[in-house]
Amino acid sequence: MSIYEEVEIEDMFFDEEQLVYTYPCPCGDKFRITLEELHDGEDIAKCPSCTLRIMVIYEEADLPELPEDDDEDVEEEETNEITQQLQSVSVKG
Ligand SMILES: [Zn+2]
Repeated sequence: MSIYEEVEIEDMFFDEEQLVYTYPCPCGDKFRITLEELHDGEDIAKCPSCTLRIMVIYEEADLPELPEDDDEDVEEEETNEITQQLQSVSVKG
């Protein structure tokens, strides 16, 4: 598969209700990737109307958190997330 473009996640639009990042596609539709996919390590956003794809440039630590009760296979990662949160709090300044 080919990548049309690499896009920084800051340049994408985040829909807080649907938890989806979108970015305008040249075909007139929008590339889209869900926050859940990003947390899963997925970084390819697809356009539903054509075959183009973009690669999303992001830091997993910078992603908004997923709402709970959505995913079940995160048991081991929970402690990691808490550690990360503590770190990001103490990094301030
Ligand atoms: Zn398209």
